[in-house]
Amino acid sequence: MPSYPLTALVLRKTKLGETDVILTLLAQDGRQVRAVAKGLRKPGSRFGGRLEPYCVVDLLMHTGRSLEIVSEARTVASHAGLREDLDRSAAAAVVADLLDKIAVEGQVEPRLFALATTTLSVMESSAAGSLPALVVAFLVKALAMHGYRPELDSCASCAGDAALGVAFSLSHGGALCDACGELDPAALRFPGEARAWLSHLLGSTMADIGADPPPDEAVTDCFALMRSFTAYHLPARLRALDFYAGL
Ligand SMILES: [Zn+2]
Repeated sequence: MPSYPLTALVLRKTKLGETDVILTLLAQDGRQVRAVAKGLRKPGSRFGGRLEPYCVVDLLMHTGRSLEIVSEARTVASHAGLREDLDRSAAAAVVADLLDKIAVEGQVEPRLFALATTTLSVMESSAAGSLPALVVAFLVKALAMHGYRPELDSCASCAGDAALGVAFSLSHGGALCDACGELDPAALRFPGEARAWLSHLLGSTMADIGADPPPDEAVTDCFALMRSFTAYHLPARLRALDFYAGL
């Protein structure tokens, strides 16, 4: 049976039979891959703890009858710190849950893997106080890569020159001018200061955000907006995001 190498991030483990596990992986090229790790739940499994969620691994794979099969795994980055602390683990779970929903089998998007692994590394090493800003930044960057970039610079409805107001329209995908905001009863309230910070998060590196996050009030406003924006664009509910919001 010919084998091949695959570098991937482990997103999720699903039990299969007595001792096996189906891994949901984000491959380095951004595809989602599902693969069986046989005997992973046996005591003393040869995979050890190398195939836990948030681990980045070099795998040796082969094609089974119905699913891909993992035959060897080597750790690239274990991100163990993300599994040992409730706040970090809840933040990392949002990353894994969103990737599980937006990455597609056979669809290549290499920037997604780089964003995911960088985000997890920064979430592991930053001060706990930076985690909410990192969650928001990940959501807005990942959705932008997925084709849903919020319009934050000009009115998403009329695209006119009028200054933006405090309304944000999910259906138009961005901030509105005052005139359009008054016509849209479904618009959310999103003040200008928060809009500027969301734009800042979209344009900054994860390392910079981890080192110097926006003020708490702006992060709270941006989080609420991005939670609605995510729910509007993704058909499946992000349970990890609901959990994170309730912490
Ligand atoms: Zn307008």
